[in-house]
Amino acid sequence: YFATGHGCSVAWDWTAPPPRTPMTDHAAVAELRTEFIPSHEVLLTDSNPDIDDAALTMYGLGHGSRERVRQALDGLLAGYETWIDERAKEATTLSGTELSTAADEQIRLCRQALSRMRRGVALLVDDTRPEILEAFWLANQAMAKQRAHTQWIKDGRPGEFAAIDETRGTWRPFQIAFLLLCLEGIVDPQHEDREIADLLWFPTGGGKTEAYLGLIAFTTFLRRLRDGAAGAGVTVLMRYTLRLLTLQQFERATALICAMETLRRDGPASLGTAPISIGMWVGASATPNTLARADERLGELRRTPGKSLQTENPVQLHACPWCGTPLDVEAYEVYEQRRRMYVRCASETCDFHAGDGLPVHLVDEAVYDAHPTLVIATVDKFASMPWRLQTAALFNRDLHDASVRPPELIVQDELHLISGPLGTLTGLYETAVDVLADRPKVVASTATIRRASDQVRSLFNRAVAQFPPAGLDSRDSWFAVESPRETKATRCYIGLLTPSTSQATLLVRTYAALLHAAPLAEADPSVGDAYWTLVGYFNSLRVLSAAELQVLDDVQDRLELLARRDGVAPRSTEPPVELSSRADSSAIPARLKRLERSLPADDVADVLLATNMIAVGVDIDRLGLMAVMGQPQTTAEYIQATSRVGRRHPGLIAVMLNSARSRDRSHYENFPGFHSALYREVESTSVTPFSARARDRGLHAVVVALTRLLISNARPNEAAAGVEGFLDDIRRDVRPCVLERAGAVDSTEREATAHAFDEFVDWWREAARVEPTLVYEARRGTRQPALLRGFDPDPADGSLSWDTLWSLRDVDAESTLFLER
Ligand SMILES: [Zn+2]
Repeated sequence: YFATGHGCSVAWDWTAPPPRTPMTDHAAVAELRTEFIPSHEVLLTDSNPDIDDAALTMYGLGHGSRERVRQALDGLLAGYETWIDERAKEATTLSGTELSTAADEQIRLCRQALSRMRRGVALLVDDTRPEILEAFWLANQAMAKQRAHTQWIKDGRPGEFAAIDETRGTWRPFQIAFLLLCLEGIVDPQHEDREIADLLWFPTGGGKTEAYLGLIAFTTFLRRLRDGAAGAGVTVLMRYTLRLLTLQQFERATALICAMETLRRDGPASLGTAPISIGMWVGASATPNTLARADERLGELRRTPGKSLQTENPVQLHACPWCGTPLDVEAYEVYEQRRRMYVRCASETCDFHAGDGLPVHLVDEAVYDAHPTLVIATVDKFASMPWRLQTAALFNRDLHDASVRPPELIVQDELHLISGPLGTLTGLYETAVDVLADRPKVVASTATIRRASDQVRSLFNRAVAQFPPAGLDSRDSWFAVESPRETKATRCYIGLLTPSTSQATLLVRTYAALLHAAPLAEADPSVGDAYWTLVGYFNSLRVLSAAELQVLDDVQDRLELLARRDGVAPRSTEPPVELSSRADSSAIPARLKRLERSLPADDVADVLLATNMIAVGVDIDRLGLMAVMGQPQTTAEYIQATSRVGRRHPGLIAVMLNSARSRDRSHYENFPGFHSALYREVESTSVTPFSARARDRGLHAVVVALTRLLISNARPNEAAAGVEGFLDDIRRDVRPCVLERAGAVDSTEREATAHAFDEFVDWWREAARVEPTLVYEARRGTRQPALLRGFDPDPADGSLSWDTLWSLRDVDAESTLFLER
């Protein structure tokens, strides 16, 4: 950038040349200006529209001959190769400059991705292994069905359910390319690709989910075709960090699972008799742990219609993911003897009306019993591994049939959120997950990350391969390109700072100005709709609650004043909709639906007040207007939050900066510089799973989890006392896994980890000697001697049990600071 303001902001007229036009001279400007309302338009990246995707329909790839599949995919890869060759030629013009090493490295990464995809295609067309192509066909058919059903529901269910058109769905090139990239590592468990975590790096809203849904379908079908009856069991673990997101993604994934299940029912016998199903494993704050509890909760809902359950709510699906028919509590039925809660669609024409109903499992107990094909979980729930021997079911390690392999694929969404203390503990517990799943293939996704290689090494003990790798210009990776403003919506940021008035006044005036202007715009309702609902973003609940009162009161007054000035009728605003952690979680789906209402409907929301809860996963295309109160703590959060607007139409984001805060002021003074390279400003995060603090918190839990889940006679609660009986197993099967990982992640901590490991095991042996009735977990309300106990800030009985987490969140202890005068 060219200048920074002082007490003001700056502006200049210079725009980078579009991608793929070589920049010959250094950038220069002839004029700089001071600016009081700085603004910057950010161009957005999208799937490359110039790639010919005509041959990439899901239906076509699902039914085409071997030769047609090969042609379609070869055509795509040939286009990619041509682009790489051009970039390589361009790189030669950089030789001898300081940029040449970096350029060569980017070209190498692109070629590496290409050759991995080529090997994926070679496997598909290998006629000595026909099951690979068959799994690919089935995966494409399932995706086509899923896409058609989801679109049909979204369009308001026009026409007949039976006549849904499956032929139209098309892959975005990067999605099918990602599947090809990962294919070898899925097909061959011994392949070196298992040592790589493939990181899908694509902007928010670009279609990352579909890319790994395709991979999930392929993995499932291949396993069933290859392993026969042993191909059932948990096949994929998909993990999220936030509950809201987990629920939303559950609905999408369920549509795919339904599609796969219909294919299994009608398909070849080799797909097995066990249903293809999905389980939600997220914790009692959302779903019940036991079927008995689920039954009680359903009873409460039946007795009091309209009652909302904030926690332990078994009613998680409100509409059939396959046909869109609304589902209420009557669709749910607990059948304890069969260890199942049935969810049956009310529509008689639906494939999931009769029999077992939808292939979903929403109660922990039922998930353990059913071994669902795909388990969707929150990362922090894995803290229950040392406590609950039933968690062995997630890794198929409780089955008598030892030929059922553990899950083969782990999908980690929104990788950047697994950072800080949560990331550190996740990385530590991941030691157990990786061993129990027998070194599965790992794929992850994110839209904002810095130094991904360090984070992935610490979390997964794998090298990272980012896809798609950029070429010579970060704005162009062939699969994704920055789009000119003529073809894709942009986001315009404006900075507001008022040294002479309070933040409250700034907020009232900003809100009123934006709300007032929206109905006056002479635009088509479909365009005007984008700016009708104002999204108010806040960095804390405290500021949000203060703003709520102002919106109700002062903003309305101000709107009346503006209307008088312009001689128009004042806009009257309804009370704001709120999306924050203080909102009742069961009310959130209804609020999201409300926000989807668009003009000319008369109940369109005027104002949404939100905290960082919306920064991830809230995808409402129509929103185009946002007011951000204060610069968010991190740039990643800023990008994620403001990416919620400007999807369908250009977005306008007003950032109200606080003149009393030096950090806000500096953002204001350097507004165009900061916004011209937003992604460069993303902070790197640190994850240190084997540091002394992390070991204190969780190393013993990992040891107990691995011991209980790997060694069958160590499993029952009472087995804790018999540690001498399986001591050799711990030393042989558990210790080396933990130490090897500690050494790979951070070699300086290996020795200290070994020491801590032995110390804990010695302590355990001693405790078992002194207390012959030692258990892992004391029954509630008893003073049974136990190895583990929940974190208790005020242990009354002086017991010596080890503090063990029940959740990987809230790991920071509170401390009080006193100011001495
Ligand atoms: Zn249905």
